[in-house]
Amino acid sequence: MKPIINTFSKYYRQKYGQPVGKLPIDTGQPCPNRAKGGCLFCKAESFTAAHLKKGDSLARQIQEGKQNLLQGRSQLYFAYFQQETCTASPVELLLQQTRQLLQEPSCIGIIFSTRPDSIAEEFLSPLAQLISISGKECHFELGLQSAHEQSLVLLNRNHTVKDFETAIRLLQSYSLFLTGAHLIFGIPGESEEQMIESAAYVSSLKIDTLKLHHLQVIRETGLEKLYHAGKIELFEKDAYIRFLLRLLPLIPPHIIIHRLWSHSHPNLLVAPRWNILPGLLSAELLEKMQDNNISQGCGI
Ligand code: SF4
Repeated sequence: MKPIINTFSKYYRQKYGQPVGKLPIDTGQPCPNRAKGGCLFCKAESFTAAHLKKGDSLARQIQEGKQNLLQGRSQLYFAYFQQETCTASPVELLLQQTRQLLQEPSCIGIIFSTRPDSIAEEFLSPLAQLISISGKECHFELGLQSAHEQSLVLLNRNHTVKDFETAIRLLQSYSLFLTGAHLIFGIPGESEEQMIESAAYVSSLKIDTLKLHHLQVIRETGLEKLYHAGKIELFEKDAYIRFLLRLLPLIPPHIIIHRLWSHSHPNLLVAPRWNILPGLLSAELLEKMQDNNISQGCGI
């Protein structure tokens, strides 16, 4: 069997006949969960694209992103509100930025990456109008991390699994937005079975996309303290690949996978340090899938 993963890059390359990139955008507003201590693993710098500078206008963010990130490799892109909790920004600001982005001919859609407890009709209703008029795509990627409440408490997420489900149902009620979940594997105390349960749970909600990765310890986070106290175990590369070989057959083939691992900047990453380039990791996974006759969704 040819190993198939329905990755974001493959799916959109086929759809548009050319590569499609993601261009990170920052509304400049902080995440409300930081006032409650922030998530145990989170440090904003670890997922901030190098070209994003505080206070830059939206026009400058687009220009810098095209120059430094896309670098001509892809003409088309999704504007990606990846920083902090974008939907906690003032509604008018977010709508105005969305409007501006949708006017860009090379922007084929918007991805809002946010918290499940930060999805309000007040924003969705005018947004739905903008999206319908533009004819472009709109994705919501909701951070859940785990479908196990005790893990959400440990991570200091300050939302529940039910919040996630309610937000997904609300988004799906518009029949316009693509919905997705962000999960982290290797949360302290979780078994592989529990991680697979999280993936099965979000898949059962008929989501369209998944962002998955292993837990990484980033400098100056609560997780770093636990790590140095010897209280957590992290996935080593080979064990994580073995885990993916169990997981991928159970993910419905239509689900678009944004990512399967993380590569935080070496200056910020404490552990695990796999010392392997993303392309080689990908090649290793595909080779093992081929050896084991595995494809995304083949076990359903
Ligand atoms: S909700 Fe997101 S941005 Fe906010 S602290 Fe948690 S991981 Fe970071």
